[in-house]
Amino acid sequence: MATPSIAIIGAGPSGLALARLLECRGITYVLYERDASAAVFDRTGGTLDIHASTGQRAIVEGGLLAAFAKYARYDASTFRLWDRHGTQYIQHERGSDFPEIDRGDLRRIYLDAIPEGKIRWGMGLKRVGRGEDGEPVLEFADGTTASGFRLVVGADGAWSKVRSLINDVKPQYCGIHIIESRISPTNSVYSQVQSRVGKGMMLIGGPNQMITLQNLGDESYRMYLGVRVPADFATAGQVDFADTEGMRAMCLSNAFFGDDWADEFRAYIRHATDFRPWPLYHIPPASVAWDPVPGVTLVGDAAHLGPPSGEGANFAMTDALYLADQLAEQQNAGWLVDDEARDRAVRGYEVEMFERGAKLIQRGVDMTEVFYAGDSPRPTVELFRGKGVPVLEEKGA
Ligand SMILES: Cc1cc2nc3c(=O)[nH]c(=O)nc-3n(C[C@H](O)[C@H](O)[C@H](O)COP(=O)(O)OP(=O)(O)OC[C@H]3O[C@@H](n4cnc5c(N)ncnc54)[C@H](O)[C@@H]3O)c2cc1C
Repeated sequence: MATPSIAIIGAGPSGLALARLLECRGITYVLYERDASAAVFDRTGGTLDIHASTGQRAIVEGGLLAAFAKYARYDASTFRLWDRHGTQYIQHERGSDFPEIDRGDLRRIYLDAIPEGKIRWGMGLKRVGRGEDGEPVLEFADGTTASGFRLVVGADGAWSKVRSLINDVKPQYCGIHIIESRISPTNSVYSQVQSRVGKGMMLIGGPNQMITLQNLGDESYRMYLGVRVPADFATAGQVDFADTEGMRAMCLSNAFFGDDWADEFRAYIRHATDFRPWPLYHIPPASVAWDPVPGVTLVGDAAHLGPPSGEGANFAMTDALYLADQLAEQQNAGWLVDDEARDRAVRGYEVEMFERGAKLIQRGVDMTEVFYAGDSPRPTVELFRGKGVPVLEEKGA
């Protein structure tokens, strides 16, 4: 069988969107994913809001709007902001341009639309080298190699291995860990959480800390406890995330969500389950731009990893759209055989992405400072007020 033109590494939002868009444009590709099978899914991340001007465009261009609409929650757009004492500041309807979809459902939509044989599961990339002809050679954890592609696209997320062919940038710790947890419909605090958060999302700010609650498609709530801790918080052997009681006690200690947090919010933590760490990393905005590297490029977090800003997956899918468009545009110029046409297509995508990606990271860095400020949630209130969002009269919980 002829070698596909493009190798995509990683089946996250960027890699899957790219695969689907190439499929629609008749460009051959293979997607290598580290997960052992489609059934394995890292549940981290919960729900994503997919914006009309970015992520949804990739979905529409991929011919998947009807499938997306089946899973998307267009009524999950209410945003609420509280402080730790139980005072609400904001209740804002973001409108229908921001439907939420569970990360697993987004993946399912794409997997249903990409021919099975084109995704190679259980293929963790170990490193990318260069062959004697200078072309990229993919070396996988199982000892196999693959080469001969016209283009290798790193869609392999924060710790991209493909990035090493482009630069030696390493992600930097943002100073924040998200402690992810869950409140399921059978949980005794579920109805209380439901009455506060509804179908949307709620932020609760305190000094250097933030609780985020999000409703998921299975009706459960994902609760993110954001804390300022050292980078080795989860790995130094001091914290056992599998010990649910221990995690609850630690999170409720005065170092984190202690006595000065409202009893109701502490009750959410006292009953939470399924604790997992999610350390936040970013790359410096200035490192998003790089000199052209023939036959290799990056999309999504591999290219522009930033702290969460509500746009990461959206921008990742936009990258896929712009890259697929540029390749399609250079089809007549013969990019499959003509290196200059290929490099022109890749550069056309990269130049637009560099500026957009750098801004995305800066936005995430700025938002992290606002959300985790010493006087949080005051700066968050002011941020939303500055955007014209009405601030509520102060009222107790
Ligand atoms: C707490 C949190 C909340 C967030 N919420 C939002 C949100 O609401 N909205 C939003 O737009 N964004 C959000 N983001 C950002 C979003 O999750 C990322 O920007 C997005 O997932 C990036 O997609 P990606 O495809 O580039 O990378 P990823 O989603 O990281 O996917 C990478 C894929 O590559 C695979 N892979 C990795 N290494 C290898 C390897 N060596 N070999 C083979 N495969 C490999 C992985 O298994 C994975 O499938 C959030 C991020 C965080 C941390």
